[in-house]
Amino acid sequence: MPELPEITVISRQMNKEIRGKRILDIEAKQPKNLNMPVAKFVKTAKGKTVKAVASKGKWIFIKLNPAYYMLINLGMGAELLHFTPNHKLPPKYQFELTFTDKTGCTIHFQWFGYIHLIPEKDLNKHKLTAKLGISPTDKKFTLEHFQKLLANRKARIKNFLINQKNIAGIGNVYIQDILFKAKLHPNQKISTLSEKEINNLYNAIQTTLNHSIQLGGLAYEKDFYGQKGKLTINKFLVGYKTGKPCPTCKTPITKIKTGSTSSYICPKCQPLKQP
Ligand SMILES: [Zn+2]
Repeated sequence: MPELPEITVISRQMNKEIRGKRILDIEAKQPKNLNMPVAKFVKTAKGKTVKAVASKGKWIFIKLNPAYYMLINLGMGAELLHFTPNHKLPPKYQFELTFTDKTGCTIHFQWFGYIHLIPEKDLNKHKLTAKLGISPTDKKFTLEHFQKLLANRKARIKNFLINQKNIAGIGNVYIQDILFKAKLHPNQKISTLSEKEINNLYNAIQTTLNHSIQLGGLAYEKDFYGQKGKLTINKFLVGYKTGKPCPTCKTPITKIKTGSTSSYICPKCQPLKQP
């Protein structure tokens, strides 16, 4: 499932490739992905020009001119691929966006996903994105912002960090190494964290996500050009490495249940501390 690094990589590539292009046509084969009937969607989008592409958490924001947004969420994994007139289209896709220069992109969803068209003035009313927290790659995600976010919270740290309303973009893949680097047990209560632990956690979030962005994201996800990322599982520190030695102390990594999710931890480096 793509998380912030993969979506950041794709949206940056899209911004470079499709900015300034005018929508010629749209083919939507799966109406349930859209927030309006297909015919209306196509009519609304046609003729609009891409002003910029950005991302927030796991969402891609295509800003259109005049004043609309196309919001894309790739769900549990999808291929959002660029094409040029010389390129063969992928064998399977549910959505195709063509620009007037005959380049464009296709989306093949694995499971669910969304492609929503929203007037710019209604963006803050869009249920699925309006309440998203600030992404760690956003300039506004400062240490001070993070400290304020955690102040007076009673939740367990992992549940809090993967809740998209608090921070947009961290899911069950990247959280594993983030907590390991910060030496925190996933079930540690936020109220028990010291200032130093919060600072370390902030740095762990930044370094883990930026490292992946630099590598082009996960090796099992494709970017806009169909290239796989270079972050393979063997580059993870503890994530998905049950039984392998901890990179710090060699204790075998264990997989534990944390609420509805699984966590991979070094029991020695990440003990659950009692307040
Ligand atoms: Zn360890």
